[in-house]
Amino acid sequence: MILIDGKKIAAELREELKKEVSSLKTKYNKIPGLSVILIGDLTPSQIYVKNKEKFANEVGLRSEVIKYPDSVKEKVILDKISELNSNDSVSGILVQLPLPKHINKQKIIEAIAPSKDVDGFHPMNVGNLSSGYQSSIPCTPLGCYLLIKKIEPNLSGKKAVIVGRSNLNGKPMTQLLLKENCTVTITHSRTKNLKAECLEADIIVAAVGIPELVKGDWVKKDTIVIDVGINKTDKGIVGDVAFDEVSKNAKALTPVPGGVGPMTIACLLKNTIDCFKRSQI
Ligand code: NAD
Repeated sequence: MILIDGKKIAAELREELKKEVSSLKTKYNKIPGLSVILIGDLTPSQIYVKNKEKFANEVGLRSEVIKYPDSVKEKVILDKISELNSNDSVSGILVQLPLPKHINKQKIIEAIAPSKDVDGFHPMNVGNLSSGYQSSIPCTPLGCYLLIKKIEPNLSGKKAVIVGRSNLNGKPMTQLLLKENCTVTITHSRTKNLKAECLEADIIVAAVGIPELVKGDWVKKDTIVIDVGINKTDKGIVGDVAFDEVSKNAKALTPVPGGVGPMTIACLLKNTIDCFKRSQI
C-alpha cells in the first residue's frame, strides 16, 4: 500500500511556488498578495489562519491578516472587501469561515471579486468550474486532485465515488474528476447502500465528518482512497476512513493528519499566485 505523504507533497509544491514567486518578482517587479479576513476568536480558525500566514511568508507572498471582533457589523466587512477588491497589491482575498450568525455568508462570498476569490466559492467560479472553464478551484478538492494525480496520472474511465456532497468538498471534487473523464458517483447521507457504491470505486474521496465511516470491507483491492475528514475523538484526530482496516486493501491511502490538510494550504498559495498571474494578462 502506498501511504500518500501529503506533508511531503505539499512541501514540494510550496518549493515550486517559491521559485515561481521569485520569477514573477523579476518579471513584474511585484509579488502576489493574500489578504485574509478573520472574524472572532474561534481557536481552529485562528490556527488555520496562522498556518496560512506562515506558509504564505515561506513562499514569499505578501500576506496580511485583518482581524475583527465577533460583534463586527456585516457592512464593515463588506466595505473592507470592496476596498481590497480595488487594491492592486491584493491578488487574493479569503474570509475565514465559519462566520458569526449575524453575518450572511452568501453575501460575503458574493462580495469578493471572482478574480480574487482564492477559495473558489464565488458562484461565478463555481459555475466556471462546472462548465469546464478557467476558475479558482476550492483548495481542499484541488489538493485531493493533485494527490490522486500523483498516484495515477491517467484517470480516464476510472470509477470515482465521492462520499459527501458539500459545496466545499464533494461537489467541486466531482467536477475535477469529471474533467479527467472519470465516471463519478456522488453519495451523501441519503444514499441507500454506501458500502455497495464504494465497492465499485477505483477512487474514493471521503469528505463527510464522521469518524472512520469508510470501512476496510467497503474498499476493493487497488482503490485510491483520499480521506478529507478531520474528526476530534477520544483517541485523537481521525479521518472519515478506518485507516488500519482500509490500508490492508487500498492501493494508496492518505493519513490523517498529514494527508489532505497540508495540501489545502499549499493550494491556497497556488490559487493566490494563479490569481496574480491572470491579473497581469
Ligand atoms: P459538510 O458537513 O458540509 O458535508 C458533509 C457531507 O457528508 C454532506 O453532504 C452529507 O450529506 C454527507 N454525509 C453525512 N452523513 C453521511 C453518511 N452517513 N453517509 C454518507 N454521506 C454522509 O462537511 P465538509 O465541510 O465537506 O467537511 C467534511 C469533513 O472534511 C469534515 O470532517 C471537515 O472537518 C473536513 N475538512 C477537512 C479539510 C482539510 O483540509 N483536510 C478541509 C475542509 C473540511
